[in-house]
Amino acid sequence: MKEEEIDEPKAENPEELRDLKIEKPSTVAAGLKAVYHSGQHVFGEMSVARGVRALLALNQKLGFDCPSCAWPDPDDDRSAIAEYCENGAKAVADEATTKSLRPDFFAKHSVKELSDLDDYHIGKNGRIAQPMFLDEGSNHYRPISWDDAFKKIAFHLNSLSSPNEAVFYTSGRTSNEAAFLYQLFTKEYGTNNLPDCSNMCHESSGFALAQAIGIGKGSAKLEDFYEAEVIIIIGQNPGTNHPRMLTALQKGKANGATIISVNPLHETGLLGFSNPQKLKGVLGIDTKLTDIFLQIKINGDQALIKAIEHLLLEEEERNPGRVFDHEFIKEHTAGYQEFIEQAKKYELNYLAEASGISLHQIKEVVEVLKDKTKIIICWAMGITQHKNAVDTIREFINLLLLKGSIGKPGSGTCPVRGHSNVQGDRTVGIFDKPHPALLDQIKKVFGFDPPREHGYDVVKSIHAMFEGKAKVFFAMGGNFLSATPDTNYTAEALRRCDLTVHVSTKLNRSHLVHGKEALILPCLGRSDKDEHDGAVHFVSCENSMGVVQMSKGVLKPVSDY
Ligand code: SF4
Repeated sequence: MKEEEIDEPKAENPEELRDLKIEKPSTVAAGLKAVYHSGQHVFGEMSVARGVRALLALNQKLGFDCPSCAWPDPDDDRSAIAEYCENGAKAVADEATTKSLRPDFFAKHSVKELSDLDDYHIGKNGRIAQPMFLDEGSNHYRPISWDDAFKKIAFHLNSLSSPNEAVFYTSGRTSNEAAFLYQLFTKEYGTNNLPDCSNMCHESSGFALAQAIGIGKGSAKLEDFYEAEVIIIIGQNPGTNHPRMLTALQKGKANGATIISVNPLHETGLLGFSNPQKLKGVLGIDTKLTDIFLQIKINGDQALIKAIEHLLLEEEERNPGRVFDHEFIKEHTAGYQEFIEQAKKYELNYLAEASGISLHQIKEVVEVLKDKTKIIICWAMGITQHKNAVDTIREFINLLLLKGSIGKPGSGTCPVRGHSNVQGDRTVGIFDKPHPALLDQIKKVFGFDPPREHGYDVVKSIHAMFEGKAKVFFAMGGNFLSATPDTNYTAEALRRCDLTVHVSTKLNRSHLVHGKEALILPCLGRSDKDEHDGAVHFVSCENSMGVVQMSKGVLKPVSDY
């Protein structure tokens, strides 16, 4: 079937969507409503005792790490009762549900029937309780033993004419320990086909940061938010994606920080925050967050930063040494002169036009920045998913380097990661372009010669499966089909595989769009107690700020398979 023959799904017409209620957008995020919704979700999926046990352990030092986003936990002053947000509670409700899927469920419900559900209701059926297998041509998953499941996988992997005909995907929920063993297994098997969800989220951040400051991770720590003079939030919606960031912004604001938000939309979480963990919040006294809101044109961010740099340069020329940190520039940077020559040529009106921000507002920002040095720039998908994202992020770094705002308290880069351990997975070797130093160490420590040839990232994996160059797809967690672009092309690519394998906690659409044969293998979730040989084991995760922490589940798993 040619690419052009794949029938695209009909776009949904919002007018036809039933029960749509148009309301005035709220200007304050969280509040007691968030507490109510958190309880509703958690106690709607499990007993009160189990729910309370889970919530009291969530993000606690001896508890488990939130399986949702990668926002860090405070090192010390954690709330003993609720160190989580509504999203965290929902993620725990989703994972720790006591509903479980047994063979009778799959006998009763065919793949076709389940495919007619929307993604939300597919996931609401419950936890995968035991290994399930789909024979070629069958429409119902059936139970299979672990041994037979492993034999099935081994058979397919050994039948391939090259290890590069297999693809091993990783979702950012995978713990460091599981991810390390997984990448070691794929390398010993003979391939670097290790696409991961980072390919679709902060790949451009990692690339730009590694180029500019030598490490593909953010430099700011959580505590830096409490000391910053200016916090710029660009292309990110913390209220929806990293809600506990609002607590850090509230603290930073209380300590005098100016918050500048750059977003095409007036996202509620950028405007105001009602902290339900504070008396003021409970009494409905909200905190105004953003001081300067720049309603940017989509992808106008780079033009905006260049305009700011040009105006800061004018300020610097008027007051030499008062705006740029020349000592830092001299000691820690290269390329300053070339940069200045370039910045002098920037056409201000063109840049303002391209950004969609008035010169008046840009000058307002320059007024704030010109004599500040403790500056943090935070960003997420609103930046990283543009074709020119690497250059835009390099411009963020240029601005911070001019001000000497890297590697100092209260300052730095802050790419805010989505998945809870996406950064950890990269740290332990999940990458289609492994660093030679890692491969040398693997050879030295484990005694085999890992492949050096770069593997497939997500996009190359989809093309390889579609073109028949890859025949086995193995996913460690995640919902590959729903997370990747071009759903129909990706679906066709997965269907062309001889075997698709998913290690999953919950049922999702990727299990229903499968290869000729398919396996679903259950696994423990973060909240599950990993108890065997008389001991409770723990794993580790790395948050968005590079802090690695223990995660120890506390709940009885839904099945002992
Ligand atoms: S901010 Fe992120 S990591 Fe923290 S509780 Fe909320 S969803 Fe979980």
